[in-house]
Amino acid sequence: MDASWLRGRRIMISGGAGFLGSHLAERLLGLGAEVVAVDNLSTGRIENVEHLMGRPGFRFVEADAAEVDASGYDYLVHGASIPSPDDYLRRPVETALSNALGLLNFLRSGRRVLYMSSSEVYGDPQVVPTPESYWGNVNPFGPRSPYDEGKRFGEALCYAFSAERGVSVRIARIHNTYGPRMDASGRYARAIPRFIMQALRGEPITVYGDGSQTRSFTYVDDMVEGLVRLMLSDHGGPVNLGSEEEVTILELARTIRELAGSSSEIKFLPPFPDDPRRRRPDISLARRVLGWEPRIPLREGLRATIEWFRGAVG
Ligand code: UDP
Repeated sequence: MDASWLRGRRIMISGGAGFLGSHLAERLLGLGAEVVAVDNLSTGRIENVEHLMGRPGFRFVEADAAEVDASGYDYLVHGASIPSPDDYLRRPVETALSNALGLLNFLRSGRRVLYMSSSEVYGDPQVVPTPESYWGNVNPFGPRSPYDEGKRFGEALCYAFSAERGVSVRIARIHNTYGPRMDASGRYARAIPRFIMQALRGEPITVYGDGSQTRSFTYVDDMVEGLVRLMLSDHGGPVNLGSEEEVTILELARTIRELAGSSSEIKFLPPFPDDPRRRRPDISLARRVLGWEPRIPLREGLRATIEWFRGAVG
């Protein structure tokens, strides 16, 4: 299918007021789809979709993905979850259940589903760059397990509904993504928005552990492009979407400080429990089946993100 297929299609996105969900909603609207964004605002924020309100074809529904009526859509995108480690450590029960129950509701409808899975299905991978064929190195009973195993169970649910009921599923293993509208407020903040805010305010930049752990960060526009291509593809198995530009968290902190023109000190805090040491996807499959790879280098995406945060916080 090509992008023209999306014109006039009805698409529901759970987690539609979240960072990634709201960017995807915007792109799909731009491609002519009708989008219903569902969010219980547990971690999503209404400000993320305020600019879409009143736009033809867009509707926001404040509801839980597990309870919403999902019948009659051409595509159901399941993005609702509690994605921030800082937060899922505090709300493990909701973390374990929110992802699976919303997804179950969508899969039961029998309609096409795009599931936003995660690089966390690999846990602390022993094979890097990590291909889709790697089964993961995950602690099933530990502080990160409600999130990691929740995401893994989601993939199993997709498999089960596809094998037994012929439901058409697409599975994106989404790696660290950043850009405008990420939540920078204390409790939920991921590394990039938190470091940017700390740098802009001249506060210490908080690095967990010695900062030698790595991540590979993808700018949100690139990620959204990958997600749309996956929606339109006929590839039913999991696909890694992420960047190959691997950086240590200490390098990231220094780069953000430099680009923000800040003189914040870097402060080392105790390591985060079960924090993966390295993360970098093998994206050969995405290249082959989606013709996709990220286009925006980290420094360029960081510059744009820093500018957005400057404007947003005044
Ligand atoms: N991190 C950090 N300081 C912070 C927030 C995060 O050093 O204030 C580290 C975190 O321990 C991890 C990396 O940055 O090693 C990426 O964290 P993030 O929460 O952005 O994503 P995830 O852990 O899900 O990859």
